Amino acid sequence: MKSWVEPMSDTLFAKIVSGEIPSEFIYEDEHCVAINDINPQAPTHVLVIPRKAIPKLSDAKPEDQALLGHLMLAVGKIAEQLGITDAFRVVVNNGADAGQTVFHLHLHIIAGRRFSEGQLARGFD
Ligand code: 5GP
Repeated sequence: MKSWVEPMSDTLFAKIVSGEIPSEFIYEDEHCVAINDINPQAPTHVLVIPRKAIPKLSDAKPEDQALLGHLMLAVGKIAEQLGITDAFRVVVNNGADAGQTVFHLHLHIIAGRRFSEGQLARGFD
């Protein structure tokens, strides 16, 4: 019998990862997929999404340690694939007040425009 609570199974990214919502994976492996952001903030804006649904980074548990490392290494591989290893930014929004809108952990890879020191806090209200 199905539980009436199905945490995280119905987020947009869970549906993208499962293929329920068709999406082009620019990278995929056994633990994660990467897609282009629908509303890019820079010429390159990729989302790296673990197949495992962790709502937000602060929900990750000690048993997710290898997965978190895997995601970082996947970022490097994707950057290589996209030819942006010289300069890119990785962002994780944790929580609504930090700008998180989809509660399935994901890493933003942003590149193709110049970031300088002091720009990190831009976008705060
Ligand atoms: P967050 O704000 O949660 O850190 O990031 C969610 C990201 O998902 C946003 O940058 C938003 O543009 C992107 N996004 C929202 N809906 C879709 C979608 O249907 N497809 C894709 N590819 N990206 C989406």
